[in-house]
Amino acid sequence: MAIRNDYLAEVMKTVVKRNPGEPEFHQAVREVLESLEPVVERHPEFVEAGIFERIVEPERFIMFRVPWVDDSGKVRVNRGFRVQFNSAIGPYKGGLRFHPSVYAGIIKFLGFEQIFKNSLTGLPIGGAKGGSDFDPKGKSDGEVMRFCQSFMTELQRHIGPDTDVPAGDIGVGAREIGYMFGQYKRIRNDFTGVLTGKGLTYGGSLVRTEATGYGLCYFAEEMMNAHGKSFKDSTVVISGSGNVAIYAAEKVHQLGGRVVALSDSNGYIYDEQGVNLDTVKQIKEVERKRIKEYVNYHPHAKYFEGCSDIWTIKCDIALPCATQNEIDEKSARILVENGCFAVAEGANMPSTPEAIEVFLKNGVLFGPAKAANAGGVATSALEMSQNSMRYSWSFEEVDAKLKDIMVNIYKNISAAAKEYGHEGNLVVGANIAGFMKVANAMYAQGIAY
Ligand code: NDP
Repeated sequence: MAIRNDYLAEVMKTVVKRNPGEPEFHQAVREVLESLEPVVERHPEFVEAGIFERIVEPERFIMFRVPWVDDSGKVRVNRGFRVQFNSAIGPYKGGLRFHPSVYAGIIKFLGFEQIFKNSLTGLPIGGAKGGSDFDPKGKSDGEVMRFCQSFMTELQRHIGPDTDVPAGDIGVGAREIGYMFGQYKRIRNDFTGVLTGKGLTYGGSLVRTEATGYGLCYFAEEMMNAHGKSFKDSTVVISGSGNVAIYAAEKVHQLGGRVVALSDSNGYIYDEQGVNLDTVKQIKEVERKRIKEYVNYHPHAKYFEGCSDIWTIKCDIALPCATQNEIDEKSARILVENGCFAVAEGANMPSTPEAIEVFLKNGVLFGPAKAANAGGVATSALEMSQNSMRYSWSFEEVDAKLKDIMVNIYKNISAAAKEYGHEGNLVVGANIAGFMKVANAMYAQGIAY
């Protein structure tokens, strides 16, 4: 698809001009604007109020120096970011990513996507994202702690429980959230729900660790059930072996499917008998080692160097849960040829636009990230609610709310797709449903931002 509407094409042109050299951000904006053509036609008042021009421009973009000292006493410098993209429907909310590939364009793409994803949850949270080009891999606990403390020393002046509540993402798990929370509390002398993904002993929510992966499967199951299919007895390939991938795999197994492959940025494992998750958790969560260690525990399994070939494995369902643009057109074609009937995105923007087109043209059930992986941020919002009440819900209570949210997201986006003349296209449905709530709130609040 290309942007055919002249007005939206102009908005896109300005985005490219204002944000040069940021292809991931351009890609994310283009996909949303393409979907919004029917909205422009039906809502001239949004055009008049400049909603489209405003929504693609962050309310605030913060960039800062993060100095820290490594174990050898050498001073290191990284770059920190926080984009506070849109606060029309609630306080800014979105994860922090620590990965060497992080730069302004990645943060903006993720922050932009977050606006619509957060809106789709039905909960009152605005869109944000942040992070750093710091690489926690290979660093000692002491180095990670000193980095996190330095990062929070600056970030703390921009966030707060009613202003902006960051969470984890790639490279930011319970350990990093703990170090950052400790530093926030020390500087502000304030024990408050300023971060989510916290440990259970200091305000974390049950199910938050599992939420994105479990939510992805609840969404995918609902999408497949609507077409007479399910995880039961299906073969599933999942990329990544981090937080999202591990708990997606756990839920697939609970729903009667068989996960046969997982990966990391070095390569992938194939276990025809079904991946043993206790082993994966031991390797990734406890030992923080590479996925190739798996074959030492299970010699019948195979390890392959390089991660993109994971999509050549024959499967019924593919759940990309590693990173952006990991499925290109070629991989999408191979998946289709091998009989894959459903793809649900656990990672953010893991399929290129060309890959999405292949899926849609071939009738593959396709759940886009901003809907399918919204369970993480939804449960983060439930953590915020529990923190505000100074109360904790049980695992079953949170899990039931998460499931309800994911089922409703599926229903709302498929209804929006139908209402706007694109029945079955959940990309269009998610973009329109996510946009409408934010646009209405912006419209009601006048030219505030
Ligand atoms: P983790 O850091 O826990 O795991 C990331 C996994 O993806 C690791 O296995 C990692 O391998 C792999 N990976 C990362 N970068 C690349 C790359 N460039 N090429 C190949 N593999 C890569 O992150 P999460 O599981 O939290 O996040 C995964 C995806 O899900 C991201 O897109 C994130 O934005 C998205 N997401 C996460 C949410 C959450 O709640 N955590 C919520 C919503 C979306 P290696 O260890 O080798 O780097």
